[in-house]
Amino acid sequence: MAGVEERVASEHSGNGVPTGTGEIVVENPATGAEIGRVPDMPAEQVAELARRARAAQPGWEALGFEGRGRILLRAQKWVMDNRDRVIETIVSETGKTYEDALFAEVNYAGFAFRFWAENAPEYMADEKVRTAQLFVKGKKLLTRYKPLGLVGVIGPWNYPLTNSFGDCIPALAAGNAVILKPSEVTPLTSLLMAEALRECGLPPDVFQVATGRGETGAALIDESDMVMFTGSTATGKKVMARAADTITPVQLELGGKDPMIVLADADLERAANAAVFYSMQNGGQTCISVERVYVEAPVYDEFVAKVTEKARELRTGVPSGPGSVDVGAITFPKQLDIISDHVEDAKAKGARVLVGGNRKEGPGQFFEPTVLVDVDHTMKAMTEETFGPTLPIMKVADAEEAIRLANDSQYGLAGSVFTKDVAKGEAIARRVESGAVDVNDVMVGYSALELPMGGWKASGLGSRHGAGGIRKYCAQQSLLVTRFALKKDVHMYPYKSRTTKALAGALKLLYGRGKRN
Ligand code: NDP
Repeated sequence: MAGVEERVASEHSGNGVPTGTGEIVVENPATGAEIGRVPDMPAEQVAELARRARAAQPGWEALGFEGRGRILLRAQKWVMDNRDRVIETIVSETGKTYEDALFAEVNYAGFAFRFWAENAPEYMADEKVRTAQLFVKGKKLLTRYKPLGLVGVIGPWNYPLTNSFGDCIPALAAGNAVILKPSEVTPLTSLLMAEALRECGLPPDVFQVATGRGETGAALIDESDMVMFTGSTATGKKVMARAADTITPVQLELGGKDPMIVLADADLERAANAAVFYSMQNGGQTCISVERVYVEAPVYDEFVAKVTEKARELRTGVPSGPGSVDVGAITFPKQLDIISDHVEDAKAKGARVLVGGNRKEGPGQFFEPTVLVDVDHTMKAMTEETFGPTLPIMKVADAEEAIRLANDSQYGLAGSVFTKDVAKGEAIARRVESGAVDVNDVMVGYSALELPMGGWKASGLGSRHGAGGIRKYCAQQSLLVTRFALKKDVHMYPYKSRTTKALAGALKLLYGRGKRN
């Protein structure tokens, strides 16, 4: 497996890095083996990439939706034709399972290339605007969308294809040049996608990858016309502060502490399966995973029993192809410390561990699938983003208490409600303070790219997907065209007392009644 990534990395390591600058060693988190090296790009090199991107962008924009769409559709086919290579690369740099790479990454990219190729023309089409303003009646009013130029995408390590690269697809479809700064932990998938786009006919320098650490990301902010960032809330704040220097627009998809509410009338078997799957899938390293559960008292014991039984059966270990393990590695070394800290903190404050509870001995970075009960909001496991295979479950008296606790959070990314009464479920979902809430499901709304997805509160700013998911990469321009006009309008100079009084009277007639006209 390592051979593939070594080749990808070495093909790109000659990317103009002067001898003596740093390199980043990429490791397989499931085995600890080195799988590649990439340049740690200094700010000057990011500036050079940006210069090339700006030179290439007008030609890309001039290709139009048709020309760009053709290349994006070729890329869709490329991903499917090279599925195994893509999955191997993702699995080896993240340590996730084959299934997590297939369902949540390749599946996403496959759909996204087509989605943006097909929908970009409609989402970015000129929009005619009608106005009730008498002063501009009869004039043509329009909004139009124009690509911003150079978009900087800064991505995290949990989904190198979906989260990092995925945001580049609509930016490219809109006609922008894009520079992607992947996480230093998982840069190889991004480099592979750069190779894919080149093979599919993308003009040189329209898409480039700036490998590096936080400083490389910071340099990219300085060079970009817009920044799309996904990662922690702490880094999101730094990104926003840096972008303020150049008044560069940013969109942020940040952390989450997503609640699941299980009502007494829920299909408990489905709710338990969903709780286990959506808390452990991708090793729990998903911003919209189930991070905490609130269960109504009458069904609490039965729910906990079902969850415990299912979580005990999960197999953790080094992924070695389809069906080999259920829960993969923890991708980011520091994340293991955070997960351990949250579990130990909960135990010290009175929580009981029903399943798991420990990191596994190396090689590789693994944490046991863990179920916690007797938890409350004094514990980090219920209030801070754990981002690991943990499932803390709390008993609540009723739905009101569940909603109150679900909203007792700095975060507001996603959430879920389980009940057979779907009207009640939807009513509760509307009261959960999160950007995306599913009823009798978790997370799957994310795969419908027509549906906007974005966080409230400390979970972010702006959204991805839907019309807004591509318009954010555009400058919006308002146009007013006057076709028939007098030589001089009545409000123009010189001001005359009689005209002003007549106009004031007209205004009183128009607006002075406090009623609709
Ligand atoms: P970060 O937010 O630190 O990193 C995200 C990206 O930002 C990486 O590419 C990172 O580079 C880059 N970066 C770091 N510092 C800067 C900076 N000053 N300016 C610009 N870019 C910068 O996430 P971590 O990887 O450190 O994970 C920490 C926590 O974030 C996790 O514990 C988890 O709770 C949360 N998280 C949330 C994700 C989500 O999907 N919402 C995804 C990943 C993590 P580099 O990696 O090279 O440092």
